[in-house]
Amino acid sequence: MPAAVWQSAARPIELRNQTMTQKEAGQRIDGVALSRQLRAEIAQRAASLTARHVQPGLAVILVGEDPASQVYVRNKIKACHEAGFHSVFEKYDADLAEDVLLQRIHALNGDAAIHGILVQMPLPRHIDPHKVIEAIATSKDVDGYSTLSAGELLTGAPGFNPCTPYGCMKLIASTGVSLRGKHAVVIGRSNTVGKPMALMLLQENATVTVCHSATMDLKRHTLQADVVVAAVGRRNVLTADMVKPGAIVIDVGMNRDDQGKLCGDVDFDGVQAVAGFITPVPGGVGPMTITMLLVNTLESAERVAAGP
Ligand code: NAP
Repeated sequence: MPAAVWQSAARPIELRNQTMTQKEAGQRIDGVALSRQLRAEIAQRAASLTARHVQPGLAVILVGEDPASQVYVRNKIKACHEAGFHSVFEKYDADLAEDVLLQRIHALNGDAAIHGILVQMPLPRHIDPHKVIEAIATSKDVDGYSTLSAGELLTGAPGFNPCTPYGCMKLIASTGVSLRGKHAVVIGRSNTVGKPMALMLLQENATVTVCHSATMDLKRHTLQADVVVAAVGRRNVLTADMVKPGAIVIDVGMNRDDQGKLCGDVDFDGVQAVAGFITPVPGGVGPMTITMLLVNTLESAERVAAGP
């Protein structure tokens, strides 16, 4: 990425235990604007690859009728289209046999026009999601969910980072604040968000604490954090009294408030007054997740174009 993209929103701050003035506190990190910038760049890189006869291609598989999944899949296909990618959308009835799905994945593994394969979760109960994820070729695992991809992240080998935590890293980078030596607290330890998030922060030389449902006194940990990433799925997990002044707060959560409106895990209004930088929900992590899926697919195609 050109430096400009990452530095444009930069407002380096001192992450010390200091009382910030209201004017300084709580700069919103705009995931929509950052996504727009990145997607323009992705489209340019895709066009230059396509001119070399390697158009980036993503296959998206949806099994069943889950309404939220249908929206997510539609947004992913739309984003591919806008970026100039080739995309294939395969939709199956909820009673699709597991072995038929695995055969489709094997066929897509061998399809030269496809550089990324995504199977939308959750799957119907009779299909084992682990078998499905492991069936995707590591070279096309653009969601980064397979055991091999997780191992690559753990060991620092080149591979695909899971899109949501990868997007969080780009949001943090857009602040211009270096993570080196900073204390990062991740709330949540799922395989798809919390754990990979912790590894990516570690890779950037942060000192990382991972909290979860059995953590005693969450506030004691978050109050020490220069960066907090909340990935729980519960409203108001992080409130203003739990945040160190000037901290960067990234809200991954997707919940509904009493009015049915989308909201995150963080009490945005309260925390914004204390934090140095904060992502809103909606308009923070969400758009970046799809953007990083495009990045992974593009990079997969670029690897193919570069040859063995
Ligand atoms: P998950 O698999 O349910 O994991 C939630 C984590 O939160 C678990 O590790 C759990 O701990 C921990 N937790 C639960 N209650 C807690 C508490 N009171 N204090 C501290 N930790 C607690 O969820 P996920 O898939 O990681 O997703 C988390 C949230 O992010 C959800 O709202 C999801 O919808 C959202 N999300 C958003 C995007 C996006 O693109 N914006 C993408 C993915 C996920 P245990 O391990 O001990 O149970």
